[in-house]
Amino acid sequence: MQAEQLILPFPQPVGGGEPRAIPKARRVFVNRNLRLAGVDWIGFDMDYTLAIYDQPEMDELSIQATVQKLVARGYPEWLAEVPYDTEFPIRGLLIDKRLGHILKMDRYKVVHRGHHGFAPLPRETIRALYQHKKMRPQSPRFHFIDTLYALSEAALYAGIISAFETRDLELDFTKLFVDIRESIDEAHRDGTILDTVLADLPRFVQRDPDLAATLHKFRSAGKKLFLLTNSRWPYTDKMMTYLLGDAMQEYPTWRHYFDIAIVAAQKPAFFQERHPMLERAGDELVPITTPHLERGKVYEGGNLHELEARLGVTGDRVLYVGDHIYGDILRSKKESAWRTAMIIQEMEAEVSAHGVCEDDLRLLDLLGDARGKLEDELRYVQARWKDLGRRIDAASENPDKRALEADRVRVKRGVDRVRGLLRETERQTILLEASIDQRFHRYWGPLLKEANENSSFGDQVEEYACVYTSRVSNLLAYSPLQYFRSPRDLLPHEL
Ligand SMILES: [Mg+2]
Repeated sequence: MQAEQLILPFPQPVGGGEPRAIPKARRVFVNRNLRLAGVDWIGFDMDYTLAIYDQPEMDELSIQATVQKLVARGYPEWLAEVPYDTEFPIRGLLIDKRLGHILKMDRYKVVHRGHHGFAPLPRETIRALYQHKKMRPQSPRFHFIDTLYALSEAALYAGIISAFETRDLELDFTKLFVDIRESIDEAHRDGTILDTVLADLPRFVQRDPDLAATLHKFRSAGKKLFLLTNSRWPYTDKMMTYLLGDAMQEYPTWRHYFDIAIVAAQKPAFFQERHPMLERAGDELVPITTPHLERGKVYEGGNLHELEARLGVTGDRVLYVGDHIYGDILRSKKESAWRTAMIIQEMEAEVSAHGVCEDDLRLLDLLGDARGKLEDELRYVQARWKDLGRRIDAASENPDKRALEADRVRVKRGVDRVRGLLRETERQTILLEASIDQRFHRYWGPLLKEANENSSFGDQVEEYACVYTSRVSNLLAYSPLQYFRSPRDLLPHEL
């Protein structure tokens, strides 16, 4: 039977795809195909998603507030004088509370590097502690740093451990971490941190000049927008007014950009539990009396099922944009059919480091290939050398034996040569890896990769975020009906 003639290849390139003018650092990266044309509702988280916090300023504030609380709990007053390195932590680190180590894992939960205070853990220590038996990172001994909020916890933990040990003082590592966590929570709860932020928003929050236009573009294409934040109403209202208040004439207040606003949502419980949704009437919270949510109103709490039912939408037509891998992305993906876009502020630095290292990364691949070939060759010459040894032992006549021995000397020289090359390749690989890591991050290397694999953080991004990008306004460069297509996924047998 004659196969039907396909119309491919097209004589001319077909439109769509990646708008080419977008610099790589501002692109949307695609793990799973996402058709914006199939999305009716787009939901946004607020903190670190719509609101881009200045990380060093926030870390400073959070560190200062926490140190005050620690001193009040009986820690020495000189903690206030300790230098804390806010550039030390990255997302995705794991704290070993028992030993006071901070660790970075690959996607298989294998630890490849770690620090105690600011000192790197030697390879042998890492091997003995974390590689010889299976890691249980979910156990109470460990704690994940998975939000930008939590970076200051790791900076404090390393800084305080280092300061105590320089002074030769004893320290309970588990207790220290618990105290830091409780002090930070307290500083959030009693308003120490949030009030300071609200009192000087321009210092702590970057106002993205393209945010309003991005939301407007979606609305013009017929999308409905909602805000779903854990922040409480007064904070949300002030923050959103700062971000969008007078950004466009068509929108008298920030509320006009969103059909629905839900505050104090209690994510991730929002996705898993069944708390009822309430309506804000002035300062009061009242039960909702209509079956549907009404445009322009503010709601509080609730849950995934109630929200979908009251919006009259199925989960696969909702796109949720958030920054928290666990609370926003992983939970919504696991508990619902929502499509997800993850905001990863660090992408701009990560992409630019990757660009700078491109030649070195290629060279690293070449060194890896060379190493494989040299190891093969070494096995071959070593086998020959052993074989000649056996034949020499078996040979009785002198001339035979002498020829074999001469041969063996030659082969031995070959073994030494290959060993030398292998050592040199390994030396160069280690140097090159270190210099590549340095350009990503002084202490931890790349955010999304670890030792040729995805990092455990990178793995979660790949698994749970349909798309990821550095900021919401990066979407402005794309069509509101964009078909985001993922690079084809190949298993090793397909390569
Ligand atoms: Mg957030």
